[in-house]
Amino acid sequence: MRDIPEQGSLPAYCIEAVHSVQCSRSYRMESAQLCLCLTGRTLDQNLKTLEKNRNFIDMAELRADFLDPDERSHLNRFPALAGIPLILTVRKDADGGQFRESESIRREILSRGIQGNYRFVDLEGDLDDISLEETIRQRGARIIRSIHAFDGIESLAAQKIERLRRKPDDIPKLAALIKSTAELNQLIQMQDRLPEGDRILIGMGSYGTVTRILAGRLGLFLSYTSTAGAEAAPGQIDPETLDGIYRFHRIGPNTAVYGVIGNPVAHSFSPGIHNPAFSRLGINAVYIPIQVDRIDDFFPLAERLGIKGISVTIPHKQTVLAHLRSRNAAVDATGACNTLVRSDSGWHGENTDVGGFLAPLAPHIKELSGKRATVIGAGGAARSVVYSLRKEGCSVLILNRTPSKARDLALAFDCRWGPLNTKGVSQAASFNDLIVQTTSAGMALHSEEDPFPDYCFTGQEIVYEIVYTPPVTPFLSRAIAAGCHTIKGIDMLIAQADLQFRLFTGQPLQQDRNPGTGNDL
Ligand code: NAP
Repeated sequence: MRDIPEQGSLPAYCIEAVHSVQCSRSYRMESAQLCLCLTGRTLDQNLKTLEKNRNFIDMAELRADFLDPDERSHLNRFPALAGIPLILTVRKDADGGQFRESESIRREILSRGIQGNYRFVDLEGDLDDISLEETIRQRGARIIRSIHAFDGIESLAAQKIERLRRKPDDIPKLAALIKSTAELNQLIQMQDRLPEGDRILIGMGSYGTVTRILAGRLGLFLSYTSTAGAEAAPGQIDPETLDGIYRFHRIGPNTAVYGVIGNPVAHSFSPGIHNPAFSRLGINAVYIPIQVDRIDDFFPLAERLGIKGISVTIPHKQTVLAHLRSRNAAVDATGACNTLVRSDSGWHGENTDVGGFLAPLAPHIKELSGKRATVIGAGGAARSVVYSLRKEGCSVLILNRTPSKARDLALAFDCRWGPLNTKGVSQAASFNDLIVQTTSAGMALHSEEDPFPDYCFTGQEIVYEIVYTPPVTPFLSRAIAAGCHTIKGIDMLIAQADLQFRLFTGQPLQQDRNPGTGNDL
């Protein structure tokens, strides 16, 4: 699964930074190993996959349960062809694999396969076969002793995980399908029950992403990765993204952790913005997406990981307020917080949507005071937009599909309000120096929708669309066609991220602009 958008949708300077990281990989001191799962039907397919990803990984796991049966007889030749440390695994379907034949055939495959030079063999915790284990050790391979829990974290907690390491060289491995932030906390705490030494902990599914990226920070032996469309387990991230965006091999016990919380959050652009900036500035830090269902369960996780700063997105911008030790005026005025910074006394909250909204306007309008603006929408983002405009002395008309919400917002900030229909169109005719579109109509799944189709642009308006996926919505496209000055959602996103990055690090997000190269956003 790709957890972040295609690089093509990111600003050019982010992509450059990612490439510069990919070209300068001479580290790997304290980081975890990155292990590519090979799930092809033939050994030849697997070799091709390995070749394409060799630069990003340290080792690979041959998932022999995915192989066509007639390929199995060549298993022992694969390590020499692969030329990289390998794990041999034949995973049963009960443990999340593809193998559905008898247990004796499975052991036979493992016994014959180990005649090749595999460095590791993955055996399930409930597999007792002393002769097989001795053969593996005699061949100089280490045993990864694994438990896979797809039926809830409780079933994993109830097992004797302390005894997974039977010989000093064994590597205990826990893998659980994680269905909530609370379960993620439980899984990470289970690490304390595993004996000291090399160990593996995998949170499967979108809630488990933290464990896949932060293996080095958690002191784990490895993290598994797979190419898009060839996942061996739910929630795996592709090697290029892990290495390029998250700089997996630079993450160690002292790496500072930042991130974005939301639900869902996998689509977030923010890791592709903050991580290249850390890289460019040589800061030992990583920025990760963290799926959070109950906000209360995020804070124990933050303590455990020593998280220093967080971006907050839907649906937590309000629920997070109860956890703040201090906040700035914009948070008080909007009732929304999109940035958390950890201080010695607790969490400090800010709202960078306010400054992030205003910054891209500056080149278009010198003075907002006395101008008349229409804001379409009355949700969380509209609140920050309306507050920003009123703070600068702009008169505001709020139009919303649900007019009562427009009225409530208008009362809070002394604005005019109306419905999002023909009546709203005539009201907007006298509030059209600036038109700001803040509804989610036009975004991703609703990308055909135009929330204000009856409004005809004069071409004189400044039109600001805050939706950033797709880069041009139908609403913005009409405004461009009418000759309006336009501002895109990505400009606001980058501007608010810049303010967050300054709060996190004290430094600007962007490189100094190169004279003569124009706008590097
Ligand atoms: P929200 O609180 O859920 O509010 C959604 C708003 O959209 C409400 O006013 C809702 O109207 C309206 N709406 C939804 N579907 C609509 C439709 N089909 N036609 C007309 N109106 C519709 O969401 P939010 O936090 O304000 O976010 C809104 C958008 O802003 C999202 O796309 C988000 O990604 C974007 N955003 C961008 C940035 C940036 O940096 N560029 C920052 C923040 C947010 P009702 O009240 O009638 O339901």
